[in-house]
Amino acid sequence: MSTAARHAEIAGAGFGGLVAAIALAERGWSVRVHERTPMLRAEGFGIAMKPNMLKVLDAVGVREAILRGGMALRRRETRNDRNEATMLMRGAAGHRVSRLHIAQTLAARAAALGVTFEWTSAVLGADPAGALLLDSGSRASADLVIGADGIDSSVRESLGLLSSRRHHRDGAMRVMVPRTALERAQDAVDGPGTCETWSGTRRVVTSPCSEQELYVALSCLAADRGGQTVPLDVESWSGAFPWLRELFERIHHEADWTQVRWVAFQTVRTSRWSRGRAAILGDAAHAMPPNLGQGAGCAMVNALSLAVALEESRDIGRALTAWEARERPLTEHTQRWSERYGQLTTWPESLRSLAFTALGRIGWLRRRYLRTENHVPVGYAAAMRPATTPPTGSDPL
Ligand SMILES: Cc1cc2nc3c(=O)[nH]c(=O)nc-3n(C[C@H](O)[C@H](O)[C@H](O)COP(=O)(O)OP(=O)(O)OC[C@H]3O[C@@H](n4cnc5c(N)ncnc54)[C@H](O)[C@@H]3O)c2cc1C
Repeated sequence: MSTAARHAEIAGAGFGGLVAAIALAERGWSVRVHERTPMLRAEGFGIAMKPNMLKVLDAVGVREAILRGGMALRRRETRNDRNEATMLMRGAAGHRVSRLHIAQTLAARAAALGVTFEWTSAVLGADPAGALLLDSGSRASADLVIGADGIDSSVRESLGLLSSRRHHRDGAMRVMVPRTALERAQDAVDGPGTCETWSGTRRVVTSPCSEQELYVALSCLAADRGGQTVPLDVESWSGAFPWLRELFERIHHEADWTQVRWVAFQTVRTSRWSRGRAAILGDAAHAMPPNLGQGAGCAMVNALSLAVALEESRDIGRALTAWEARERPLTEHTQRWSERYGQLTTWPESLRSLAFTALGRIGWLRRRYLRTENHVPVGYAAAMRPATTPPTGSDPL
């Protein structure tokens, strides 16, 4: 196999683009990343990191550095409109970490491996012959170009890969507020955890993101104008969740509203993940509603797997075909389950509570629900294998 260095040009410095850049650079590729904004994205605040994502971060050597900035979760629960528990899962429940901290740590690792970044460099599209088309008017040619440019991907559009884009009935706004002393003290009793409370078609997800910060996601239907008001409408939200009034007041006064917007959930489906020497990755290829907290997880798993496929076969076309065949079934399973979970939004409370009780108790159902997070990413085992030490018997004295 030839070992001549190959070159990749990547559109987008999000989670997918950054992990692809690191994994390729670790395998000898030279890599350049184009990011249309002048800096890494902070919006979104807290990211749920499930075991599959943690394994990718392990494989690319940044797990410990990333987890130092976050919170280990020990419990996940759902509650109904009377604030009664409908499901409780105890044990390791992943971590929640600030989006900016994850992105900064990945970008620093990429830079240390020689990856270069072009900030304020918007990509207009891709040529399947192997080039990104930049808004400066120039072409950035490469052995492989990757569109990791998010849900509105210009690369995907230019390659004609979109098969459907569904806007769901619901969406969310996300905020971060300081944790109270009482909340921190409660960690010692229950263990820090994620709590998802439903009332009618609204949902409040709370999860500590560090010792000091609480991440809150507030979700409602697109038609629910009161639920989407920014800054948050305390009366409207307290009407649905009276026992959370104090939290809503804190959010109203303490969140940085310049950073917050309500986003509608979407599912993007694509006919293929590549054309010629151009591939798409992450939300560009398979955006999903965030109900399983797996959008970034899937982007990272598939980014690492792409680099492994390109290592296994130097033929780019063959590698891209093998990569998609390997990863697409689980990604589509994740999209389906994220959508199914979201359908609970419009179910009557009694049926929804029953569904959560079943999820907590029926092993088969729980395994399907947790299948993505329990997946062992391609490339993980090889990266974690200890380096073989040469036999010492024949060492010269
Ligand atoms: C409410 C909500 C909560 C979520 N919570 C979680 C969670 O807890 N856990 C989880 O795993 N996932 C979560 N997700 C999903 C997750 O945010 C996305 O799936 C993930 O960010 C996708 O990563 P990406 O790299 O594909 O795209 P992005 O993160 O969107 O990155 C794309 C990058 O490309 C840049 N870009 C865009 N267009 C261009 C262009 N033309 N040229 C150059 N650069 C460009 C963008 O500026 C951006 O930096 C959530 C999503 C939502 C909406």
